[in-house]
Amino acid sequence: MLDPFGRSITYLRVSVTDRCDFRCVYCMPEHMSFLPKKDVLTLEELDRLCGAFIAKGVDRLRLTGGEPLVRRNVMSLFRSLGARLGNGLSELTLTTNGSQLARFADELVDCGVKRINVSLDTLDADKFRAITRWGDLSVVLGGIDAAQKARLSIKINVVALRGINEDEIPSMIEWAHGRGFDMTLIETMPMGDVDADRTEQYLPLSLLRSQLARHFTMTPTLDRTGGPARYVRIQETGGRLGFITPLTHNFCESCNRVRLTCTGTLYMCLGQEDAADLRGPLRASADDADLYAAIDEAIARKPKGHDFIIDRRHNRPAVARPMSLTGG
Ligand code: SAM
Ligand code: SF4
Repeated sequence: MLDPFGRSITYLRVSVTDRCDFRCVYCMPEHMSFLPKKDVLTLEELDRLCGAFIAKGVDRLRLTGGEPLVRRNVMSLFRSLGARLGNGLSELTLTTNGSQLARFADELVDCGVKRINVSLDTLDADKFRAITRWGDLSVVLGGIDAAQKARLSIKINVVALRGINEDEIPSMIEWAHGRGFDMTLIETMPMGDVDADRTEQYLPLSLLRSQLARHFTMTPTLDRTGGPARYVRIQETGGRLGFITPLTHNFCESCNRVRLTCTGTLYMCLGQEDAADLRGPLRASADDADLYAAIDEAIARKPKGHDFIIDRRHNRPAVARPMSLTGG
């Protein structure tokens, strides 16, 4: 599938649920209202929809959320998608908060998952509770241990938060690299209404990067994992550190991805409101022809890029839907 700007769309992120067992301050308000269950696609419907994308040329899938591992019976989806590996699909991955990894790490490997991203913003138990509101650091660290034992390759995603985990980033890099994990730093994006002040949370990575240069020797690499991260190699640890800077840089020109919500809505850009309904054509017929046509029509509308800006005066998000709907 080629979009109007000649970008080949080969990567689909699927948010399998908008529900979560955490309430991270930058992601959701504490009393979040979730989608009615009747609007949510069944796991069989999600599998069929993913199959349609694979038939149209998508070869990498990432399951995300909300927290994907809290969806009931989600392993049956991993199992059915895993069976597509080598049959159009080359990679099946997961982004998780790690709370359920101790339970599922072995089974994920058994389904063909090789790499996972674990979101972890601090190694301080009190700060962890403050950021996630409901999370328990020791459970997540136990999950990471289980994932490593199961031989999953792990990337730690850290959202940089001004005055909260800012000082801890060097020690987190040492911890992650010491355990053989890649790490990526992410700027907060103005998505969804949260109970917190965005401008207070926002820490530009350009600033953080110059602070890190006092601790580490960082050499830019040309490594690309098909995503928006730009990487450096850190001489002192030998590990890789990525930077995702949606607000200060534009990473759109090489964008290869689209995002599907658990209700079958396809977002062609994380930073735009335009979307296409695929649940209608999916449920209208057992034949995939209409679905293929709806996917083609949506890809033809993929915008050139996002225009995230924080509405600082009104503290309004640039994009009204929360990150938990599309999974980041
Ligand atoms: N629950 C899973 C997790 O936390 O990894 C998967 C979904 S979560 C929405 C995916 C990623 O988006 C996480 O790394 C999270 O930190 C990040 N995220 C959520 N809200 C964000 C925001 N407003 N700005 C930047 N990153 C955000
Ligand atoms: Fe849940 Fe992930 Fe959002 Fe945190 S970032 S509230 S873990 S979906």
